[in-house]
Amino acid sequence: MTTEALVKPSLDEHLSGAAKAFLAEGRFGHLIDGETCFSDETFAVYDPATGAEFARCAAGTAKDVDRAARAARAAFDDGRWRNLDPLEKERRLRRLSQLISQNRDLLMDIDVIDGGLVRAYSEFIVNFGQDAVDYYSGWPTKLHGSAPACPPDVVVQEVREPVGVVGIITPWNGPSAAPAAIVPALACGNSVVLKPAEQTPLAAIIIGRLCLEAGIPPGVVNVVQGKGEVVGQALVEHPLVDAIGFTGSGETGRRIQAAAAPRLKRVSMELGGKSPQLVFDDADLDSAATAVANAVWGHSGQVCTAGTRVLVQRGIHDELVAEMVARSRSIRLGSGFAKDTQMGPLVSEEQLNRVRRYVDIGRQEGAEVVLGGGRHGQAGFFHEPTIFTGVNNGMTIAREEIFGPVMTVIPFDTEAEAVAIANDSDFGLAAGVWTRDLSRAHRLSQDLRAGTVWVNTYQRVYPSIPYGGMKQSGYGRNLGAASLEHLTQIKTVWLKIR
Ligand code: ADP
Repeated sequence: MTTEALVKPSLDEHLSGAAKAFLAEGRFGHLIDGETCFSDETFAVYDPATGAEFARCAAGTAKDVDRAARAARAAFDDGRWRNLDPLEKERRLRRLSQLISQNRDLLMDIDVIDGGLVRAYSEFIVNFGQDAVDYYSGWPTKLHGSAPACPPDVVVQEVREPVGVVGIITPWNGPSAAPAAIVPALACGNSVVLKPAEQTPLAAIIIGRLCLEAGIPPGVVNVVQGKGEVVGQALVEHPLVDAIGFTGSGETGRRIQAAAAPRLKRVSMELGGKSPQLVFDDADLDSAATAVANAVWGHSGQVCTAGTRVLVQRGIHDELVAEMVARSRSIRLGSGFAKDTQMGPLVSEEQLNRVRRYVDIGRQEGAEVVLGGGRHGQAGFFHEPTIFTGVNNGMTIAREEIFGPVMTVIPFDTEAEAVAIANDSDFGLAAGVWTRDLSRAHRLSQDLRAGTVWVNTYQRVYPSIPYGGMKQSGYGRNLGAASLEHLTQIKTVWLKIR
């Protein structure tokens, strides 16, 4: 890592005009039934690159959730969106995509200052959100039911209907990806109450406003800000909310499932991971060395699919480690606004402390730090990219999700051993395989217990391709046609004709 002073940009210098105008509002509220509204209390919004407060946001209560849920329910029940001509729904969703394009700089700037994303990653996140809108904007005219075989005296229709009001609870690691969370629900005709993470509340406000501007009627998309255990919990428990889409930690996921149980509310969960990358001695080591490391360093490791367990065949272990260390040593840490920054801060002091705790545990358990290992700088919440070798799969740093730039390298001898280590995890979100052997690639994609297996690539996403986990990484799928299972329900209609 470079030891140069952290870049502390003057905001005036780096922010687009649109971002300056937005932040000049200073205090941000909820968006309920098309109106901005506030609560009695506010909470501080911090720039993780400096630790400085730059905005305040309404701290919602159960009362705010109740208003939002009623607004969403009323919008659903009167059909202002659900019963709109499907072609017209598509036009408005396409308009939303155009508005996201027009507001790219605003969204990217806000993700950098609010979430600590580096510029390139914020661009990826905004594109990802927009790609999802482009994909799902075609769905309203394509959703259909069927006419199943039935007895001759009746006609039966199998109709696919929206589930109703969907509560969507999002994490802080890609705030401007919110459209990818809400638009699938909208495409099916649902209404939405969105609760963004309290660390990164601002992008959701912009997206909510753009939905209104695009012609999605008031009440169809509502945003309530505030703490998870207050606003999130109230949303999960609210009787007018039919389904919950959650992305976040396993611990919170378990709490949500329990809170949803009394009403048998359907829940879809995209939780954490401890994803293995299996690197075989026949892999293209030159490209793998960079790609394997980047799969851990991306957004400072704060990505659910981060490939943090790097399993390396023993014959290439030392060479691959040396290459990854050499290539990662020069990573430039700093503010996401600086053009040459490659790694930004962690989202909060709490997250930084969590990462430091795990690094201490790794050392205590006997693993060796061969790169990084500490906090970077004194201002902001930066942590050095850190590589542990001498790790065995039983160590805490190989079992628990750290959500920071910490790689654990584990050697293996045979393919069978690699698969056993890879699958010996509570998680099953993703896995990577690096090999030139086609049969092995196919074998492993069958044998690895993970929602996604990437071969000779990693962390690719595309809106038509389902995404989600197995085991403790959750259930239900985001993206693709698979997401419609959670967002729609089947109704059968019997009509006596003879
Ligand atoms: P982290 O611990 O990394 O912040 P969480 O899983 O707690 O991750 O947060 C993901 C999202 O879940 C955030 O929007 C957060 O506010 C929300 N959340 C946290 N606790 C609860 C809860 N008890 N019920 C509902 N949502 C919650």
